[in-house]
Amino acid sequence: MKAIVVREFGSVDVMKIEDASNPSPGPGQVLVRVKAAGVNPVETYIRAGTYARKPDLPYTPGTDLAGVVEAVGPGVAGVTPGDRVYAHATLTGAYAELAVCEEPHVHPLPARLTFPQGAALGVPYSTAWRALVLRAQARPGETVLVHGASGGVGVAAVQIARASGLRVIGTAGTERGVAMVREQGAHEALNHREPDYLSRVMPMTGGRGVDLVVEMLANVNLDRDLDVLALRGRVIVVGNRGRIEIDPRKIMGKDGAVLGMLLMHATAEEQRTIHAALVAGLESGALNPVVGREYPLAHAAQAHVAVMEPGAYGKIVLIP
Ligand code: NAP
Repeated sequence: MKAIVVREFGSVDVMKIEDASNPSPGPGQVLVRVKAAGVNPVETYIRAGTYARKPDLPYTPGTDLAGVVEAVGPGVAGVTPGDRVYAHATLTGAYAELAVCEEPHVHPLPARLTFPQGAALGVPYSTAWRALVLRAQARPGETVLVHGASGGVGVAAVQIARASGLRVIGTAGTERGVAMVREQGAHEALNHREPDYLSRVMPMTGGRGVDLVVEMLANVNLDRDLDVLALRGRVIVVGNRGRIEIDPRKIMGKDGAVLGMLLMHATAEEQRTIHAALVAGLESGALNPVVGREYPLAHAAQAHVAVMEPGAYGKIVLIP
């Protein structure tokens, strides 16, 4: 099979397409023929060698995929060859034609969704669900600001919040992104590149502020998020790329909370809960991943450049 292989940490050029031997599934494992693999920002940090968690070299990047079950190992009862599935973790890497996954990490992909949409589910939708529902305990009737709603996690957060009965304000950095955020269910959408855009949040909420902020770039926005927070509001830090000075009095004055959320801390039980909820949302039609760009597997380097550029429009995927 063809697979992207990283033999040293570094720039995007360290990702080479190679001929690799076909993996085979062991007990409790599922072999998937990958039709699309999701590209997440964290995969660029890992490839560069700057992330706290580094895989042993060489390795094949990627955790999120969608495809067709090719074979199953002993003891697998939940899926059979030919099933359409998505996976949120693999043992062998998603940037490949074939990938081995543990059975609990493989979920049914309803027929109405494309494989690229399936590859957009793993990290982004799990992150949005865990942040909103499990960490922030979002409740119907609350208002959420999805600060950075145009990317993989942001679109997921908008759709999940809207389907859960929240009032949703989303931001994007381009007019095209702003329009898409509205189409995905946000009641209001703002452009985070416009000066003073956050001054519009208070009038949008009748002067009350937002109950929740799902924050994709905390090092830029955290202090200003606290200005638009309602009494007893919560900011959930999902994305951060540097340091910031904040005024803690703003948290105190609102009885507020700033919460962190790192997906890798999700327990097996939380993962079961999250994917049961996501599959239900896919079946009901509430969740519909947006795929903005598809690259051939051999162009993984271009996809890693693109995922770090401004102007997000949903998800970037690789097609083996
Ligand atoms: P993505 O698809 O590349 O999207 C990035 C988002 O950030 C886009 O909506 C982008 O908007 C937005 N953004 C850019 N500048 C912004 C600003 N000044 N204010 C607010 N938003 C801004 O990435 P993703 O997959 O959605 O992930 C988003 C972030 O969360 C990344 O930093 C990622 O590493 C992190 N993450 C964390 C976890 C976790 O476990 N904590 C899990 C997944 C992802 P425009 O491009 O339209 O400007």
